[in-house]
Amino acid sequence: MAVSCGDEIIPVLNEYIRLFDAGKELVVFTRDWHPEGHSSFVTHGGTWPVHCVRGARGAEIDDRLEFPSTCLLVSKAILQEKEAYSAFDGTRLAEYLVDLGVDQVFVGGVATDYCVKSTVLGGVANGFEVFLLKDAIRGVDLKQGDSARAVEEMRKGGARLVTIDEVKVLLSDLRPEWSR
Ligand code: ZN
Repeated sequence: MAVSCGDEIIPVLNEYIRLFDAGKELVVFTRDWHPEGHSSFVTHGGTWPVHCVRGARGAEIDDRLEFPSTCLLVSKAILQEKEAYSAFDGTRLAEYLVDLGVDQVFVGGVATDYCVKSTVLGGVANGFEVFLLKDAIRGVDLKQGDSARAVEEMRKGGARLVTIDEVKVLLSDLRPEWSR
């Protein structure tokens, strides 16, 4: 399942990964990890073409993404009958981050109008301060304007919209010890 121009955000995501890794912040990768015949597939009554079947090529993390020194990998929507757009849905990500003392979450990736939106709003609902990396997202836009509406929904829902330059400033303010 392709997100049009989705690979355009890879260099930007890599820049974020390097930035957060340099500051010893945790980087989390999330992926759909569906069983065969998942209920979200159009072949099984769902909306989407077959995608991200666990163990298959389509479920792999794109190998153009740079792996940081340490990262967490979250697999979601692993149950046959349950869709999960949010990385917080059906996972223990929220309690794990709370245990680590994390209070801010920065979200980028695909797709703006589904998994990104749900993860951002899920982060807010779980009490995190959430930043949407607006230069590192791409949407599906099944209906024209879906992505733009999703961004607005996230903003109204309490997320802060930021770009890489703004995050650099933000992090150097928060953590002057590693500003550069
Ligand atoms: Zn999926």
